[in-house]
Amino acid sequence: MSEGVWTAPGRVNLIGEHTDYNDGLVMPFALPLSIEVSADRGTPGRLRLSSANVPGQSVELRVEDLAPGRGPGGWSDYPAGVVWALREAGHPVTGADLHFESTLPTGAGLSSSAALEVATALALGDLFALDLDRTELALLCRRAENVYAGAPTGIMDQMASACCTDGHALLLDTRDLSCRQIPLDLTAHDLALLVIDTRVTHAHSQGEYGERRAGCEAAARLLGIPALRDLAPERLPAALERLPPALGPLVRHVVTENVRVERAADLLLTGAPEELGPILTEGHASLRDDFRVSCPELDLVVEAALAAGALGARMTGGGFGGSAIALVPGPRVRAVGDAVESAFARASYRPPEVRDAVAASGARRLS
Ligand code: ADP
Ligand code: MG
Repeated sequence: MSEGVWTAPGRVNLIGEHTDYNDGLVMPFALPLSIEVSADRGTPGRLRLSSANVPGQSVELRVEDLAPGRGPGGWSDYPAGVVWALREAGHPVTGADLHFESTLPTGAGLSSSAALEVATALALGDLFALDLDRTELALLCRRAENVYAGAPTGIMDQMASACCTDGHALLLDTRDLSCRQIPLDLTAHDLALLVIDTRVTHAHSQGEYGERRAGCEAAARLLGIPALRDLAPERLPAALERLPPALGPLVRHVVTENVRVERAADLLLTGAPEELGPILTEGHASLRDDFRVSCPELDLVVEAALAAGALGARMTGGGFGGSAIALVPGPRVRAVGDAVESAFARASYRPPEVRDAVAASGARRLS
């Protein structure tokens, strides 16, 4: 018998890509697509996990046996990792039955993995009366993903799922995890934000992510700073002269991207969201040419959306597939969606999935 239902959303990152492991700024918002978990404390010592989205792959684990690398692998590592991380941090989680159901596509760069973790942590936090604030919760979820599930990610996804609020983007400083809610009411300005899932994930994406991350860390070491966040934009030209050619463009992306996040937040705070367009498109060019994490499908979305009247567009998420976003005047929504679909058909790509996104609520208890 379920003791309650909790939900955690996926997210889309408006701007601030590949900055989160450089102690930089990001600005995601929560999607109205989410993972729900029906949860109860079950039988002490046992963790039962099932998901309507992966039928036939239920697992039952002994709570005491949970350890990184010792699980069955696959989807259950995310929620099992949360139980492990909570217990490691001294929280008395004795067991649970968790059943998940999701409207969030997996592997689309919309962060279903973080939604799965955050829903789990929120449910367990309530069921075992753990006194966790949202930041602690997000940090434990990230630990589950990094250490238990073995996926190297920054903190953005978990913070977004845990801390976003309806009608706002979350301006998050990944250095100190301070957050500011930034109004994102596009409809009031007759604008829409399309999230376009290319439905491709290129196989090498994880290795490339690791390489970019290592490149950023190496560059920070060479520059003698704790993280690329610490390189002021006015010191960028001098830094580029000192860095090897392979690292310079990575640094240029991170430094200019942090500036783009600040500019985007200022525009939203001053009520000029239509001016975000060029910032998004600049961000895409930087990810494509300097950080080199785009792919032909993402570039095609951006190109087709802009040609059909989008004010700006960019890949979002880690890259090498996943989704792109396009800021579109209300009357052009249909035309932009159609243009992207036709461009994909002409290129003989799988049809993309086009969604109209609004900034929705973060994780919460439903019943
Ligand atoms: P993203 O977070 O961008 O969606 P990831 O590769 O980080 O992509 O995470 C996707 C993984 O999360 C899936 O392969 C699966 O293991 C797990 N997952 C996500 N949603 C669900 C779900 N509803 N049920 C079971 N597992 C899920
Ligand atoms: Mg993920």
